[in-house]
Amino acid sequence: MIDGEDGLQGTFDAIAALAKDCRFADCTHTRESGCAVAEALEKGLLDKGLYNNYLKLRKEVEYFTSTKAESHKKNREFGRMAKAYQKFQKKGCSE
Ligand SMILES: [Zn+2]
Repeated sequence: MIDGEDGLQGTFDAIAALAKDCRFADCTHTRESGCAVAEALEKGLLDKGLYNNYLKLRKEVEYFTSTKAESHKKNREFGRMAKAYQKFQKKGCSE
């Protein structure tokens, strides 16, 4: 069993090396056609455990980044709303 940070890094390195041959640059390595990672998995060149580990980790990273992006978006929308409100108030005063 590979464990610890070295194993983790090795997993990502192995996937990243394979991913260079994927047909699409934004390949998620799950269901795409022309995915080099899925192909290596099918041929037994890539360990299924490593691949599953990779997917699990990626999900966690994606969840973290998506919630961050989501809160950023909400902040932006709030800023826009506040600006529109201020504009509306100013207009009301000048008339
Ligand atoms: Zn792929």
